[in-house]
Amino acid sequence: CFVSFEGGDGAGKTTQRDLLGQWLRTLGHDVVLTREPGGTELGQVLRDALLHGDDVDPRTEALLYATDRAHHVHHLVRPALDRGAVVVTDRYLDSSVAYQGAARALGADEVRALSLWATDGLLPDLTVLLDLEPVVAAARRTGRPDRIEREPTAFHARVREHFLELAAAEPDRYLVVDATLAPEEIQERVRGRLAPLLPA
Ligand code: C5P
Ligand code: MG
Repeated sequence: CFVSFEGGDGAGKTTQRDLLGQWLRTLGHDVVLTREPGGTELGQVLRDALLHGDDVDPRTEALLYATDRAHHVHHLVRPALDRGAVVVTDRYLDSSVAYQGAARALGADEVRALSLWATDGLLPDLTVLLDLEPVVAAARRTGRPDRIEREPTAFHARVREHFLELAAAEPDRYLVVDATLAPEEIQERVRGRLAPLLPA
C-alpha cells in the first residue's frame, strides 16, 4: 500500500506523514516513511543541488526530480512494497506535475509522462492533498527559505491551483483536506480514508 502527501511548503505534510506512520505501526504494519526529493543517498545529493544550486534551469530541474524519483522508487519504494510494507512518502510525482509542469510551465502532461517513465508507472493508492493558501503557508514556514520557497506568491498560487485540478481529475486516488484544520482532525480524516485500503 503506497500513500503520498502533497501540498505546498508549510502545509504540514511531514507532520501528517509521521502521525500516520505511528498509527500504522500500532496496527502492526511494516511501515516505511520517506520523502522526495532526497529519500536515498543519491537523492540527498540531488536534493542539495535542487534546493541550493543557483543555476538550475527548469528542464534540468525537472530531470533532476525525475532522477531522484527513479532512484527512490527502484531502490526503496518498490522493494518495500514488494515485501508488503506500507510506504508513506512526503511528496511524490504530483509535486513534479504541479511545480515543474504547471508552475514552471513545462507542461503538466509532459512532466507526468516523464515521472511515469522514471517510476515504470508506479502511482500511489492514496494521495492526500493538504490544501493551504500560499500566503498562510509562507507564514508557517521556518528557517531559511530554499530556492523554490523563495519563488513569488504567484508561483505558489499556480502550484496550489494545479494540485486542486489534479485532485479533481482523480477523486478515487485523492483526498483533499483543509490544512488549516487541527492536526488531529486532519489525521482522523486521513486514517478514515486509508483504513479500507490497508492490507489485512
Ligand atoms: O517538501 P520539501 O520542503 O522537502 O521540498 C523541497 C523543496 O522542493 C520545496 O521548496 C518544494 O517546493 C520543492 N519541490 C519542487 N518540485 C518538486 C518537489 C519539491 O519544486 N517536484
Ligand atoms: Mg519545504
